Amino acid sequence: MIRCGLGYDLHRLAPGRPLFLGGIEIPHPAGLLGHSDGDALIHALIDALLGAMGEGDIGQLFPDRDPRTKDIRSTELLRDVCARLKKKRLAVLHADAVVVAERPKLGPYFPAMKAALAPLLGLPPDGLGLKAKTNEGLGLIGRGRAIACWATVLVGPKS
Ligand code: MG
Repeated sequence: MIRCGLGYDLHRLAPGRPLFLGGIEIPHPAGLLGHSDGDALIHALIDALLGAMGEGDIGQLFPDRDPRTKDIRSTELLRDVCARLKKKRLAVLHADAVVVAERPKLGPYFPAMKAALAPLLGLPPDGLGLKAKTNEGLGLIGRGRAIACWATVLVGPKS
């Protein structure tokens, strides 16, 4: 059976914090606030994967009061979730994501993000779609105070 999953996440940007997004560090005067490194793109992907597995959400799996995940790189959380997927004899067939950010301009970083994320997901680089949108200057995202991400995955039996 082919399963789909949908994930969404939003984190506030805080001045002086390193910006981790899509598994890489991006030079920017502000970074995403969170218990982990705040990587909203990976968190949206994780929720999509958990959805496809028929499980809960990232907050249930990695509670934000757990000292073991304080400031953890989200790539490690994704690695854990992909291992759970494998245990269920499932594999990611494709993933697609939209990042909504007023700045920085993300397009130039997509190749590095794909190089970081595709191997973790067990996908070739073109098995992961990434798109960037601005919020047209509207709201907190439009004022550069937050970044939101949507992700969808297709999961199927491991061949
Ligand atoms: Mg999050």
